[in-house]
Amino acid sequence: MMESAPKSDRSRLTYKRAERYYHVTTSSRNSMMLGSAWLDYKCDWGRRHVNAPHQRSSELGSVNVRIAELFHSIQGEGEFAGTSSIFVRTTGCNLRCWFCDSPDTSWKPQGELRPWREILSDVLDIACEHVVLTGGEPLLQPEIVPLSQALRRAGRIVTVETAGTVSRLVEADLMSISPKLTNSTPRDTSRWRQRHERDRLRYRVVAKLIESARYQLKFVVDQPEDLDEVVQYLRGLPQISKDRVWLMPQGIDARELAERTKWLAPAADHLGFQLSSRRHIELFGHIRGT
Ligand code: SF4
Repeated sequence: MMESAPKSDRSRLTYKRAERYYHVTTSSRNSMMLGSAWLDYKCDWGRRHVNAPHQRSSELGSVNVRIAELFHSIQGEGEFAGTSSIFVRTTGCNLRCWFCDSPDTSWKPQGELRPWREILSDVLDIACEHVVLTGGEPLLQPEIVPLSQALRRAGRIVTVETAGTVSRLVEADLMSISPKLTNSTPRDTSRWRQRHERDRLRYRVVAKLIESARYQLKFVVDQPEDLDEVVQYLRGLPQISKDRVWLMPQGIDARELAERTKWLAPAADHLGFQLSSRRHIELFGHIRGT
């Protein structure tokens, strides 16, 4: 069922307030317009699958989350691809994928510490039902928990995007987990190469996360050989349903994504997995704020 974004008294403030703090770019405004034409908000779906556990939070305190950016754009990947969404991009990551598409949060982390309540307020000023807590690795930051709880209490549909290496009882309507394959390993010999290899796979963490909410697993696929590794990985988590697995081409420009999609699409079909777009890159290129 198509449903429009929630109407609130705050809706008229949508961009003005956001612009004060963040770069809501021309392209992200365009994305909102495009989004309203395409998108299926899936509101009913989101609310029917609410089952994340509660936990005590530090809501009464005033504590910070380090964020790189907050912006309004289109979700480009996975089940909610095409959905108008607000993104809270935390900065800091315990991995260092060589192909990281948000190096400002990993290789060269940037951003500011902000009280989570202030972030909440800025998100709620934007009339958009879907909120994506992403990174970097958002689960590294404890205050992502009260932020997620408050967002859901406010009626927002929350997606948490994580690499599945950190366990934290965050609340989500969709737990979007992207376990990293060997194709992600840094190609140099820095200490990050060793740390990355040590930390990138955490089966127990992923098992816990998929129990906490509806989930999707997204694998970044670079070469056809990676597909065997995906199948092998999933043998370690037999409870994962194939139709919750998405294969996503590696790449940060539309041409290379299209090239990889040529062989990835039939392979995903053959294996019984979903094919994920990276629609934000197709639409806007690889730029911040989209
Ligand atoms: S896990 Fe994600 S944010 Fe971290 S380095 Fe890899 S791609 Fe970048």
